[in-house]
Amino acid sequence: MSLQEFKEKNGYEIEHYWLPRVTSITDVVFKPGLLRYYAQQPNFAAAQETLNHAANWGTATHEAVEKFLIGEECEIDPMIIPSIQVFKKWKKEYKAKILDIQNDIERKVYDLEDRYAGTLDALIEIKGVLGVLDIKTGSGIWDEYSLQLAAYMNAYNKSVPSKRMAKTRWILRLDQFEECKFCGAKKRAKGGKVLIRGGKSNCYHKFLPARGEFEFKELKDFNHDLDGFIGAKRLWEWYNKSQLKQIENYPKTKIIQSLL
Ligand SMILES: [Zn+2]
Repeated sequence: MSLQEFKEKNGYEIEHYWLPRVTSITDVVFKPGLLRYYAQQPNFAAAQETLNHAANWGTATHEAVEKFLIGEECEIDPMIIPSIQVFKKWKKEYKAKILDIQNDIERKVYDLEDRYAGTLDALIEIKGVLGVLDIKTGSGIWDEYSLQLAAYMNAYNKSVPSKRMAKTRWILRLDQFEECKFCGAKKRAKGGKVLIRGGKSNCYHKFLPARGEFEFKELKDFNHDLDGFIGAKRLWEWYNKSQLKQIENYPKTKIIQSLL
């Protein structure tokens, strides 16, 4: 990979600096769920292809949710309608509010002190508490998400006056599946490839129309998670030291200078 490709893939140019992306940094964290996923696939290429489909699925869902929040009419891919409906249901149920439609959706945040950047999905207010919301469309809520959201909240809070600071972090997972009316097996086609989980293997499944479901989780212990993120950042720098050394506009601290 050329240095230019490395920079494009892993970061942003902000205020004359190149800053690594939060999600590239958290990629150094060991993911047991991902390992299990690979083990269940026929081969590496097939696994990669399904992951690409899942990523596209996630992007389409994020775009539709974003447009809905902004109040922009758009045509929604019929495939993801159950997810969007369940998002609307969640928003109503939790009375989630967006205070500033211009700035609080898909907001780019960065931290020149800890040297990273990212884009948070939304800042929302629930029962008078402002927090960072991240939307997930995968099959679970994984530990490393708490590092990602701690990084966003830290960077965001450094950029605003104290009365506008976020107090908490939330993950909203949007899921959709077809359920077998006999045995309860769940069929998901998010990755382009059909996956059937649960139920009985000897059942002649009869699947009901797709429906959505959400999982909403508040993340606690921000300081501990931020420590974890900063640790991951150090490890990420160690892995990528040969490229980072060559990036002239990557702001380097004394510790990193010694590492590079
Ligand atoms: Zn069945």
